[in-house]
Amino acid sequence: MNLTEKIFEAGIVGAGGAGFPAHVKANSKVEFVLANGAECEPLIHKDYELMLHFPKEISKGFDLLIESTSAKKGYFGIKEKNGKAISAISQHLNGKTELTKLGDFYPSGDEFELVYEATGRLIPPAGIPLDIGCVVNNVETLYNIAQSEKDIPVTKKFICVAGAVKNPSSFFVPIGTSFKDAIDFAGGSKVKEFGVFVGGVMMGQLTFDLNEVVTKTTAGLIILPKEHYLIKRKNQPEENWHRIGKSACDQCSYCTEFCPRYLLGYQVEPHKVMRSLGFTKTGSAVWNQMAELCCSCGLCTLYACPEDLYPKEACDKAKVEMKREGIKFIQQKPVKVHPIKDGRRVPLKQLVMKLKLQDYDVDAPFNSKNISVDEVKIPLQQHIGMPTKAIVKKGETVKEGQMIGKIPDGELGANVHASINGKISGINEKFILIES
Ligand code: SF4
Ligand code: SF4
Repeated sequence: MNLTEKIFEAGIVGAGGAGFPAHVKANSKVEFVLANGAECEPLIHKDYELMLHFPKEISKGFDLLIESTSAKKGYFGIKEKNGKAISAISQHLNGKTELTKLGDFYPSGDEFELVYEATGRLIPPAGIPLDIGCVVNNVETLYNIAQSEKDIPVTKKFICVAGAVKNPSSFFVPIGTSFKDAIDFAGGSKVKEFGVFVGGVMMGQLTFDLNEVVTKTTAGLIILPKEHYLIKRKNQPEENWHRIGKSACDQCSYCTEFCPRYLLGYQVEPHKVMRSLGFTKTGSAVWNQMAELCCSCGLCTLYACPEDLYPKEACDKAKVEMKREGIKFIQQKPVKVHPIKDGRRVPLKQLVMKLKLQDYDVDAPFNSKNISVDEVKIPLQQHIGMPTKAIVKKGETVKEGQMIGKIPDGELGANVHASINGKISGINEKFILIES
């Protein structure tokens, strides 16, 4: 099997984003391969810990990808502040690879930002890195690629559990581990009533359901007390976001002025999208189109808006409405970086203060102990593309690493594997349950 086939068999998807199947990237021919170790979600430090403790594996995965894509160069994006990780990784990089040292800003891990910082190239509006001869992979994806070369499939996820827990830490858990088990492994919550931001406070989702499970794309769980500012802010019914915005937005345009995509030269203007709340009722509203190229980074809502309004959520709504009505926005202007871009970058420390997270801004060291779980609930769709089809039956005994869900031939997606030894205790169209 070649590398692409091994990655496909192993069920690898992008570990740091929406879960794009990694074999597709490995099968392309590009000029540059980029490793994304920029990690910029407040309080999440799992990529840093992974680079510190598994630099050989990450670099191996990077080299394999450079080779399979015939790239002429690799760029390894990493924050300058992470000196120890830089030293660890540098020892294993080959001559084809250059370190791209990044400042401690949000969102420096955004692909569009990283590609621009490393190569000086701008991804076309609504495009992907491949359009300009690049592929980008998160460092955990590279780790998984190195494992796949040894025929080890993805059965574990490296996560960071932080915030109001007794031992903020980073560790591997079997895919399908419940949030409750993961939080308990980090010492449990320090408070009785809390919410969980899945994947981070900026771009993640808020949940109160501890039976939800870790998937191949879960970067971390941020636990915050129920009365925390961010929980109150996020836990508003959608109609409130839009009702308040309609009456209180004074069109100051700070949301646009700080928007990282706008500053890179894309036509994203959340202050105009806010107008659609007040002046129009349908997705055909001209203002909605100014949301199409938004990456949902959350800066406009959680950092820029002096009125605590919800421009990001207005953009999310606008995108849904445009999709429903079949409207596609095509940027007419050339993409040109705003001259003030560097001056408007948002330092992570400042963002942490604005989010009232200073008390939780601590390290999350690697815990190498194995978590023990009695049951896992493995979703059949953890990636972009088609869901996998279960290939096991209820009552069957499975071993960790055994394929239990397969992608139909010719479809885009990723296979899934048993993450623990045990017995299949339930199957439906969404999950496979395994009891140890
Ligand atoms: S920053 Fe807030 S008040 Fe100003 S235009 Fe944007 S949404 Fe409106
Ligand atoms: S969430 Fe806001 S700041 Fe971020 S890209 Fe979208 S409009 Fe810009």
